[in-house]
Amino acid sequence: MRPHLLVAGAGIGGLAAALALARKGFGVTVLEQSTQFGDVGAGIQISPNASRLLAGWGLLPALEAMAVRPEALEIHSHASGRLLFRSALGEQAVQRYGAPYLHLHRADLHRVLLDAARGEAAIAIHADSRVERVEHVGQGAEAVRVETAQGQRHQGDLLIGADGIRSVVRSALFGPEQPRFTGNVAWRGLVPIEALAPALRRRVAGLWMGPGAHFVHYLVRGGSLANFVAVIEQRGWEVESWTERGDQAELIRAFGDWPSPVRELVHAADPETCFRWALFDRAPMPQWSRGAVTLLGDACHPTLPFMAQGACMAIEDAAVLAECLAETASREAPLATALPRYEALRRVRTAEIQLGSRRNSRLYHLSGMAARLRDLGAPLAAPGNQRKLDALFGHDALAAMAGRPQA
Ligand code: FAD
Repeated sequence: MRPHLLVAGAGIGGLAAALALARKGFGVTVLEQSTQFGDVGAGIQISPNASRLLAGWGLLPALEAMAVRPEALEIHSHASGRLLFRSALGEQAVQRYGAPYLHLHRADLHRVLLDAARGEAAIAIHADSRVERVEHVGQGAEAVRVETAQGQRHQGDLLIGADGIRSVVRSALFGPEQPRFTGNVAWRGLVPIEALAPALRRRVAGLWMGPGAHFVHYLVRGGSLANFVAVIEQRGWEVESWTERGDQAELIRAFGDWPSPVRELVHAADPETCFRWALFDRAPMPQWSRGAVTLLGDACHPTLPFMAQGACMAIEDAAVLAECLAETASREAPLATALPRYEALRRVRTAEIQLGSRRNSRLYHLSGMAARLRDLGAPLAAPGNQRKLDALFGHDALAAMAGRPQA
């Protein structure tokens, strides 16, 4: 009989894992706490290190039908309004990294993954199923049983906790530990493209750095909407929910003296789409698995979004975990013996991105003399920054497993 796996959470990571596992011949049950499937929030950047994996699962045509391929990443300084760094994306990204850089609405990415998972006979997805208890069963702890808040019980050969930053599975393995509030609040908003001047309709990922804040904008939904994420250092408000409405007037005040593209975007935002989210993270974890239970995505490496890699890393985790488990199953070895290899392949890269994202929060938000020095040094720093992007986007998680050269 083919092994059967349980996945807690039907976010981007959980669905990617279910799909990758089904494609390797496993049976999968996905348990999602929400009563309805979907993803809220606005835009998401999917870089080539993740889009190459989505392409491998045959999802690129469906994604590209709704995505925008940005021509470039452009980083500006609030102080001078100057362009400090530009990295070509578009066709050059495909040539350089072997896969496209994509801008998507989160709901579109989630829908494509959900439809693909629903199309797999080997995957059963249950909504309204909040995992609450986790226990090993069998004399050698060879199976895992979970119990949901709704009183259902499910048993599998392995459990993957893809249940996000406040993971119940993580707490069951390693004890409760609250994530750290980073002192940053992210605002997001959407602007219909017709409301914007032509300069803001360009297909770029724009990043503006300023004192105690930064601002990112790009197009989604085939270019019909501009999406922005505005991150502001702010203490005393720690609600973590994309459905927490923010007051647009507050946003307009916060960016009142920023360069005109930023002001134009916050003024033109549809007030109904202005939401805010307090940003939390954790330090890298020394261990992700115990027995036949492991973690994936934000459950084990929640990250500030300042390298736009959280979901990309979850997709990489999913591909690598499925590959490790398939190799182990093909040797008829216990599935849990695949987990040390999975961790060894993933922990260093994800920790580097977690810590790199924290470093970016300091760099992006510099003020005064430190900001001026950063801006003056930008031309000298550019080749090093491009090399870092090449390493990030050129990473081929499956080739790395097999020891093959990277893009
Ligand atoms: P989640 O998305 O948190 O999904 C977890 C799922 O598990 C949810 O559906 C939840 O309802 C469910 N769940 C929780 N507990 C239980 C339970 N006990 N039982 C059952 N189900 C449960 N990443 C990028 O790659 N690119 C970007 O451009 C980017 N931009 C971002 C911008 C912002 C402002 C933020 C905040 C994040 C951004 N990220 C980005 C990060 C990215 O959103 C996350 O890393 C990613 O969503 C993590 O996916 P996940 O599936 O691991 O967790």
